[in-house]
Amino acid sequence: MNGDPISRIVIVGGGTAGWMAAAAISRIMGELPDLTITLIESDAIGTVGVGEATIPQLIGFNKLLGVDEREFVRETHATYKLGIEFVDWLRLGHSYVHPFGSYGIDMKGIEFHQFWLRGRALGEAAELDDYSIAVAAAKAGKFLWPRPDQPNSPLARLSYAFQFDAGLYARYLRRRAEAQGVKRIEGRVTDVSQDGETGHVDAVTLESGERVEGELFIDCSGFRALLIGQTLGVPFTDWTDWLPCDRAVAVPCTLAGANEPLTRSTARPAGWQWRIPLQHRIGNGHVYSSTHMSEDEATAILLANLDGRPLAEPRHLRFTGGLRQRAWEKNVVALGLAGGFLEPLESTAIQLVQAGIARLMSLFPTTAFAPVEMERYNRETEEAYTDIRDFLVLHYLASERDDTAFWRYCRNLDPPDGLKEKLAMFRSSGRVIREHNELFTETSWLSVMVGQGVQARGYHPAAALLDEDETRRRLGHIREVIATTVSQMPTQEEFLAQNGSAI
Ligand code: FAD
Repeated sequence: MNGDPISRIVIVGGGTAGWMAAAAISRIMGELPDLTITLIESDAIGTVGVGEATIPQLIGFNKLLGVDEREFVRETHATYKLGIEFVDWLRLGHSYVHPFGSYGIDMKGIEFHQFWLRGRALGEAAELDDYSIAVAAAKAGKFLWPRPDQPNSPLARLSYAFQFDAGLYARYLRRRAEAQGVKRIEGRVTDVSQDGETGHVDAVTLESGERVEGELFIDCSGFRALLIGQTLGVPFTDWTDWLPCDRAVAVPCTLAGANEPLTRSTARPAGWQWRIPLQHRIGNGHVYSSTHMSEDEATAILLANLDGRPLAEPRHLRFTGGLRQRAWEKNVVALGLAGGFLEPLESTAIQLVQAGIARLMSLFPTTAFAPVEMERYNRETEEAYTDIRDFLVLHYLASERDDTAFWRYCRNLDPPDGLKEKLAMFRSSGRVIREHNELFTETSWLSVMVGQGVQARGYHPAAALLDEDETRRRLGHIREVIATTVSQMPTQEEFLAQNGSAI
């Protein structure tokens, strides 16, 4: 291998992205004798302060860090999440859930939903939601860990994530990272110096005058993109045409009573509102398009639709959907908001950070910074963002809503090519294709396609292997087994208390 080992990693930024990177890299590589990891964060600048809903991949990240789930849930005031409910997205008054895990049961190697589509064609089957244990449990306010060891139980097909206080998570990770040897420096970076020949960043200087040198810099400076954008000038690819929302207003409110283990997204006239119940409060926010709605109107809609008393002044955020053309440039790798942003409709930002760290670990450079590794990193990063973008666009363009200019714009969007193909395939045969191990599973694509009213004209021929009566009988049986299983599950509150995770 060309080049010397990297001996000094500098992480600029201590939001969720910075501390996730620090905790993971120190866990994996911290025992290398000649490696130092320094994280710089500015208390005066602070963090973005939102970001509460996650997807199941976080479980794997926590395992990698050796985190005990019970402790993590308690420390971050987390609740469990079994999916996202989309209210008023297809049309006013309609709702569906994008559940974690998968639908139905194993049906002779053919995907369950093909039998469901056949059942629909026979006029028999209930809504797709009715075949998901995650949906049934979430709506009943119940939770239990999955049981992959019980393949005949619907619990084997359950999956889950968390809703948590991202600020507390960053603090929790900080403790772990510092215990693993990460050095933290508090202060504002005011100057960045580059090598005259290569253009690599060689040091950052703080307001105090302290100079911190490094060989690999990880830019976790949030929307400021201090190194990747301001210093190296890597252009930003703007996806606003596909994802027109560019503002958010967020406010936490009090929690009254028990809550479903579910994130809710309610479509609004020029965007959508999130509702994320934690153990101690509910996180709320309104994501909207500034072309179609003013800040005052967006704030008024949010405040009029809270399930509790506001706990803070509304916080306003501006963003552009898209990503840096190269997440890795010279000796700088951008993670988190510095690298790109996709609206939090499917709670993907923290997962993108996690995936970026995993990619960096597998392609970890030497001081030679081989272009082949950087190119691969950048290609995979762009692919990951593109896949998620296409999934988000599906929610908007498949809507039947035409009650506002915003929704008329969304309905008439020209889908990106990848999404076009997925839509055509599903419409033709009910097939759901998943590209290159992309983040969202067949269940995810299926739930949103069906939920948003995309109609399949056919189903897999093998679904006709079961005769009509048997198809009806099995579909009915699955619903019964799910209902019985859910009736025996503890409520989320009971589960948290039983496991020592309640705050
Ligand atoms: P920040 O939190 O902004 O951290 C930046 C860090 O850089 C801070 O420590 C700051 O002090 C430091 N910094 C900046 N400039 C300097 C400087 N000059 N010197 C020293 N330090 C500096 N994600 C999800 O997964 N789920 C969600 O539900 C979700 N909802 C979201 C809703 C909205 C409206 C937004 C905008 C984001 C949401 N996210 C969500 C994304 C999530 O908040 C971020 O991806 C995540 O918090 C990572 O942020 P970050 O660490 O990149 O940036």
